[in-house]
This record gives sequence, structure tokens and C-alpha cells, in this order.
Amino acid sequence: MKVIDLHTHTTPASGCSRLRPEDLIKRAKQLGLDGVCLTEHHASWDTYSIRQLALRYDFTLFRGVEITTREGDVLVYGPHTFGLPYEIQGIISAQRLQEMVVLRGGATVAAHPLRGCFLSRDGQESAEFHQKVRELSSRPVFRWVDGIEGLNGNTSNIQNQGALTICELLGLPATGGSDAHLVSDVGRYVTCFEQDITNDRELAHAIRQGTFKAIALEAWHRGVSSSA
Ligand SMILES: [Zn+2]
Ligand SMILES: [Zn+2]
Repeated sequence: MKVIDLHTHTTPASGCSRLRPEDLIKRAKQLGLDGVCLTEHHASWDTYSIRQLALRYDFTLFRGVEITTREGDVLVYGPHTFGLPYEIQGIISAQRLQEMVVLRGGATVAAHPLRGCFLSRDGQESAEFHQKVRELSSRPVFRWVDGIEGLNGNTSNIQNQGALTICELLGLPATGGSDAHLVSDVGRYVTCFEQDITNDRELAHAIRQGTFKAIALEAWHRGVSSSA
């Protein structure tokens, strides 16, 4: 089983992040993660730099990218997708992005899909919440992705609960990622894969297959200590 944080941003590659790659890796190792995926905004790590970093810290690193589409942010995974940020001009549609990713054998995940929703204190158990989530599940972005980020570390609990419910309604798998921009964010939510994932090709394949679960790291640690 592999526990991976599938959504992280580092400085200077992502302008909004204050997290240095070295600090991300040190924190991820401390937390007991098996790997981390660097998903910068519209930028991919080059092969040489990421290998050097992985070797220096003896830690498994994956590469992804976060692309802003007309319908929302989409995380892209897969070894042949690293050139996409340089190929894409302007803001494209999620459908066009999915077409480009499919051609390259990659995988897509709708990032923090309900960020900005449920800003009032609607109860998670209320009928209004469920009705609203059903309406939101028809958003076009969900038609053009392999999975949905059900647990995002920079999103409120109710927004994550809504995203997880949409995964169930649409039969799409839920990923977990911290969306870390600070060292304290790292690993808040992670994705637990059924199989070993050792490279970007296997990661994209597993995401398309849906062989994983989104989980809060705390819950995983509790599970590990109770089964030990
Ligand atoms: Zn985003
Ligand atoms: Zn992000």
C-alpha cells in the first residue's frame, strides 16, 4: 500500500507557495508518507531537477501539474503530460484538456471542486445541503475527469463533504491531497493506493483505475497504530 500526497505547491515554481521543496520532503518523510506529487500551477518540474531532489533526500517524488480550465482547476498526472503547460495557450476548457491528457495516456482529477460553495453555515445533514450537492454534481468539469479531489487540505469540511458526495453520486473515485502552500499544510489529506506506485506512469494508471481511497492522515495514523 502506498500513501501519497497528490497535490502540493512549492516555491518558486508556484508563485503563491511559501513551501520550499526541501521542507516539503522533510515534512512528508517525518509524517511517514511514501511519496509526494509536486503539482505546480501551470509548470512542470524538469526530469533532471526532480531526480536530483529525490536522490538527495532518498524519497519518492511524482510530477503532476495543476491547470486552470474554464470550468475549474484540474490536476493532471502522467509522464507524457509534463509538456502541457508549455503547449496550452490561455485558458482552455476541461474537455479540451481531457482530450490532450487522454492522447498522452495521463489522468485528470477535478481539484477542490466545491471551493467557494457553502459559505453560509448550511448543515451537512440538511436537505438543502443534499439538494445543492445534487445540483452541483451536474457541473460540466465532472464529465471530463477521471476522478475528483474529495479531500483537499485548503478547503472547508463541508466543501470536502460535498465533493465526496458528488464522487458517490457520479461513481467517480475520490483523491486526497493537501494542496500544501506551507509546511504545516503537508499531508493533511492523502491518497492511499491499493498497489505499490513507483513512477508517474503507474500513478496515472492507478488514478484511471480508481484503485485508491482519500483519507485524512490522522485517520491513517490511527489505523496504523490500532492494527499494529
Ligand atoms: Zn487550485
Ligand atoms: Zn493547488
